[in-house]
Amino acid sequence: MASAKYIFVTGGVTSSLGKGIIAASLGNLLQARGLRVTIQKFDPYINIDPGTLNPYEHGECYVTDDGAETDLDLGHYERFLNITTSQANNVTTGRIYNNVITKERRGDYLGKTVQVIPHITDEIKRNFFKLGETGDYDVVITEIGGCVGDIESLPFIEAVRQSKWDVGEHNALVIHLTLIPYLKAAKELKTKPTQHSVKQLLEAGIQPDILACRSEKPLPTDIRKKLALFCNVQLNSVVEALDASTIYDVPLLMRKEKLDERVLAKLKLSNKVQPQIDDWRNFLSRLKNPTNEVNIGLIGKYVELPDAYKSIAEAFIHAGAALETKVNVHWISSETITEKSVRRILRDIDGVLVAPGFGERGVEGKITAVRYVREHKIPFFGICLGMQCAVVEFARNVLNLEGAASTELDAKAPHPVIDLMEDQKNIKNMGGTMRLGAYDCKLKKGTKVADAYHASKVDERHRHRYEFNNAYLEQIENAGMTAAGINPESGLVEIVELEDHPYFVGTQFHPELKSTVMNPHPLFVSFVRATVKNKKS
Ligand code: GLN
Repeated sequence: MASAKYIFVTGGVTSSLGKGIIAASLGNLLQARGLRVTIQKFDPYINIDPGTLNPYEHGECYVTDDGAETDLDLGHYERFLNITTSQANNVTTGRIYNNVITKERRGDYLGKTVQVIPHITDEIKRNFFKLGETGDYDVVITEIGGCVGDIESLPFIEAVRQSKWDVGEHNALVIHLTLIPYLKAAKELKTKPTQHSVKQLLEAGIQPDILACRSEKPLPTDIRKKLALFCNVQLNSVVEALDASTIYDVPLLMRKEKLDERVLAKLKLSNKVQPQIDDWRNFLSRLKNPTNEVNIGLIGKYVELPDAYKSIAEAFIHAGAALETKVNVHWISSETITEKSVRRILRDIDGVLVAPGFGERGVEGKITAVRYVREHKIPFFGICLGMQCAVVEFARNVLNLEGAASTELDAKAPHPVIDLMEDQKNIKNMGGTMRLGAYDCKLKKGTKVADAYHASKVDERHRHRYEFNNAYLEQIENAGMTAAGINPESGLVEIVELEDHPYFVGTQFHPELKSTVMNPHPLFVSFVRATVKNKKS
């Protein structure tokens, strides 16, 4: 076993308490003390990865550099810690069983009955420790998805129990995140659900070391004492996790509650330096004291569930803070946009982002919006499907190619300006078969994007099947839409922009996936800047 320390974060009472944010905030504080930290998420569902899940059900699918389709919490880890994660940072029950069954078929367990304990739990533990064993990290934080007591999380909880023994005292600890509800009628905070949840953990053989208690009101000392007494933890290990006005406040709230200090003490990490959080504080102060304000329309299909565009929303927060500008994102359903309604819908909008997406629904609305902002010189940023819509719109209305489309929408389009590549055509499986992960992109000198990046080559993450059809490249460029970014290996067009427009950029990749608090994405910054300028004029 390598010398990394392991922190497990479990959840109880209800889901959606923000385990990912607590884990990321703790990681942030430990990192700010000079420790090398990574965070991983173990999800109890059977899908091999969330790539095939509907964003309505599970929020955005976050893609890593190595092309893993992962849970959106990995986005929080990257944004809070300014690190990159990989497939190893997100493991599901499906992947665990898949590995075990593959081994069984290969004969690895010859003669044995393959069982949940020890085979499944061993495989879980192997994955728990994988990153720690590289020697690259001092601390590995593992977030266990779901709630204790769920049938499907049992093997994970059992693996946590065993892990605590495997690594020995002071090398692992468990933080249990629960809810302390406030009953208005009784004017009281209630500890009973937490007591029950901890009891469930104890039944599984796990004594939590620290309780993080989500609450809408501060926890008075008597409540903390009660929790300590009934849940068998030290008083100073009851940590209040108050509702925050922004998730980026949570590291500071956790610092105030001394969560990092408790963790260091319990893990016997003799790290005495104070956390360096000045840059974080500066970010928060810019975020909270804006000097400008803009209204950006985000046109998408899944607008009822903003989690579907989590990384885009966060990238706007990072870019807004960098420019001391409050970015009000207006979620606009693409299905409401028609030739008739577009002017009214975009009336008070200073810039438009057309979102990524799949399938045909709402695409014509997106194309209509692109036409409007192109013609009215309103700043435009198209991401993935948004970029594809921009190309289709340009082909239809500037090149007058009637029926131009993406073959995703119209398989028999007379002008397939966006099309499947040969190597995508024979793929039958849906899982993990898109163009995924980081690809190089060479930027054309003198373009707005080269200027924004201050670079000639970048790499960005992809998640799509369809591509710009290079058969139309010359025509399109001649008419004024520039291929501002090209993948040097394949020649695929990764960025288009219009020169004769204040800001009109479409990217085949997803820049939002690489925006972090400490490194706001240059294209989001340049887009918001253009939007501010547009508003002023
Ligand atoms: N549906 C499009 C494709 O597969 C765009 C995907 C996306 O926006 N992520 O190419």
